[in-house]
Amino acid sequence: MKVELSYPDLTEQEIEAVVAVLSSQYLSMGPRVSQFEYEFAVYLGRKYAIAVNSGTSGLHLAVKSLGIGKGDEVITSPFSFIASSNCLLYEGAQPVFADIDPISLNINPDLIERSITKKTKAILPVDVFGYPAEMEQIVFLAQKYGLAVIEDACEALGSTINRRLSGTMGELAVFSFYPNKQITTGEGGMIVTDDEKLALLCKTMRNQGRVEDGLWLTHRMLGYNYRLDEMSAALGIVQLTRLDEIIKKREKIARLYEQKLGSYDWLTLPPRQENIEQSWFVYVIRLDSTINRDAVMQVLQEEGIGCRPYFSPIHLQPFYKSLFGYREGQFPITEEVSRSTLALPFHNRLTEKEIDYVAKTLVFAAHSQ
Ligand SMILES: *Cc1c(COP(=O)(O)O)cnc(C)c1O
Repeated sequence: MKVELSYPDLTEQEIEAVVAVLSSQYLSMGPRVSQFEYEFAVYLGRKYAIAVNSGTSGLHLAVKSLGIGKGDEVITSPFSFIASSNCLLYEGAQPVFADIDPISLNINPDLIERSITKKTKAILPVDVFGYPAEMEQIVFLAQKYGLAVIEDACEALGSTINRRLSGTMGELAVFSFYPNKQITTGEGGMIVTDDEKLALLCKTMRNQGRVEDGLWLTHRMLGYNYRLDEMSAALGIVQLTRLDEIIKKREKIARLYEQKLGSYDWLTLPPRQENIEQSWFVYVIRLDSTINRDAVMQVLQEEGIGCRPYFSPIHLQPFYKSLFGYREGQFPITEEVSRSTLALPFHNRLTEKEIDYVAKTLVFAAHSQ
């Protein structure tokens, strides 16, 4: 049996919407992008949404719009997808890592304060796997020290903590619509903010530094081509209308995994907490330290089951090691978690039979060492 790790949830509706764009005049800079931005802002309850061609571009513009650059430090998590840290390097700023909480796997707010220096400009928390970071504490610290907060909510569209949606608590927040995220536009992303100045800066930089005043060839500042195209926006508009349905289906898959895997003491399932509603991005379990994760993965792969270690610590990536001199042991919780985590197949096409197969194979793999 072959079980895919990930699969987008698309219907005829999305296909028709994209095809309709192809027979229209505008393939870029047309009405769909504005509509997608408007509806996204309404969904989150934020004043401005700026569509971009990836979550990574969005993070870059968020950093740049705050004027963060050379000589500045930003506190962030070493347990994340590399883009949440690379976006600082693009501007010559220094990522300062704080280790994670072993349960939530998000940046540990208690470790943030001691990392703050005169050079610190912002905190960049990540909602890892869709589980919201401790935003109340993070925002409190940011206010206490006059720092900005950029939320990397790329994995958490629709998650809430204390009834507040991910992406509504920082000066800026960024989402991604890569195909394995809750909703997809192929490649794509969105920046949200309530600050008019930041929104305008992001919009200008996304479009080659042009201000939208009709002066097509006037470039006010250094900009980029980070625009989202109309086909992607059309896809995003339909996906957003289906978001609640998609999230519910993903929750059902997560519950099935809990049923099938909840009784084993050699693995830890993702946490459940009363004040958190998680919009699931991936389904990541942790194996006991007595179990060889890589050997388990190999068995799963041989049996046709897609799986992946999630994540590899950012500070131990080869070019981070050589740029900044990071060594093993500096962020022990991140490193230990990275050695023992495993993402299982997770998408809305999974059947109960397939989940059963994944669970049984996992149990077999763990015991056959
Ligand atoms: C997906 C993701 C991004 C951005 O990814 P893109 O592929 O550039 O859209 C950034 N940070 C995190 C944590 C992510 O998971």
